Order: sequence, then structure tokens, then C-alpha cells
Amino acid sequence: MTRCQSCSAPLVANINLCRYCGTRNDVDLHGKHSYQMHTHASDRICPECQIPLQTIDLNLHGEFLIERCDKCYGLFFDPGEIETLLDSSVSNVFHINDELMRNINRERYQGHKKVKYLKCPVCQVLMNRSNFGHRSGVVIDRCRDHGIWLESGEISHLMEWKKAGGQMLSEQKKQQAESQPDRPAPARKSSNFDSIMNSRHDDINLVDSVSDMIFRLFD
Ligand SMILES: [Zn+2]
Ligand SMILES: [Zn+2]
Ligand SMILES: [Zn+2]
Repeated sequence: MTRCQSCSAPLVANINLCRYCGTRNDVDLHGKHSYQMHTHASDRICPECQIPLQTIDLNLHGEFLIERCDKCYGLFFDPGEIETLLDSSVSNVFHINDELMRNINRERYQGHKKVKYLKCPVCQVLMNRSNFGHRSGVVIDRCRDHGIWLESGEISHLMEWKKAGGQMLSEQKKQQAESQPDRPAPARKSSNFDSIMNSRHDDINLVDSVSDMIFRLFD
């Protein structure tokens, strides 16, 4: 349970505004990652507050730079960085916990929020809005060229979603949608040559599915 830095009240569902004392908290990074703040402001601009973002090094397998707004604690990730962060923070998920997934979404996403398009912190072009994975509840703002903006609390929410098996569920849904029942699976042949060819074929499929998986997150 994350607590308010100012009054220690619990912050439910990674919502950063303390309902007791009104303090805004960095629920994503405070106490969860050891990070270094770069002293210089970056030339990227917060799409909510219109002030320069600060560069932060999360120190994940070496240097791992993201940008954070000092005021609203929103985070900006370069393409691919969210997956890396999710993979290194949440692993060993082997089953889908349906109830947990329902609950995390119920706590965080009760009210309707007004849809607002935000400008990319880098190029200032309006970003696209899309769902991150199946049933994550998180709508991301993405610039195809520069990366993804997440509101404060959303990366923590995505970690909980992944822990509940959300990413697995996403992948299953995709596979179901893509599987073509009319195409029969190739029969395995018994000769050595064929089994070598088949195992090569499997390797190639694996590589395909890993890169597919990464794209699938952003459908
Ligand atoms: Zn408080
Ligand atoms: Zn901001
Ligand atoms: Zn951009």
C-alpha cells in the first residue's frame, strides 16, 4: 500500500492526490525504484502542465532514462521502454487472476473522465489514444515517433494488471483472434532432416511471436 508522503494516509489504487491532506504524491517512483534525478530539465514539455519535464535515470540494467513532470508526476517513455520496465518489474506470472483484475480496474476507473487529446512532449503533435492491452483499463497517449505518456499512477496500475495476468490474457485474446481453424497444422515427419527443419521452423515462430507480443500491447 502506497502512503501519502505528507500525512501517511493510504493512497488507494495508485491515485496520487491524497484525499485527506490534498498533497500530490509520486505514486510510481517514490519508494519503489531507486532512481537518480538529472539536474537539468529536459527539452521535453509536460502535455498537462506545459512545463519542462525532468529526466530520471531508473537504473535498470544500466542507464534507463525516462521523463517525469515535477508537478503532475506524469511520465514519458520512449518507444519500448514500458515493456522493458514491466518485464523487469513483474515476472513469473503463470495464471490469470480474474477477480484481482476486476478489482484493480474497479478501484481505479470508476468515474468517467473527459476525453482530452494531448500533445507529444517532443514534437507537439496531438498524440493518439489507445488501450494498453486487454482489460488493463489504461488508455495511453502515444506519439508513433517519440513514445508514450502515462498519467501518474498508470505505470503502477499496469504492473498490477500484469501481476493479475492481464498481459497473458491479452496475448491469449490475440492468438484466438489470429488462429485460423481452417488451416490444418502441418504433420510432423519422422526423418532426421525434417525434424531439424521443423525445429528451425519453431525457432523462427518463437521470434515472430515475441516481436508480435510487443506490438500487440499497443493495439
Ligand atoms: Zn496526505
Ligand atoms: Zn505535468
Ligand atoms: Zn512526437
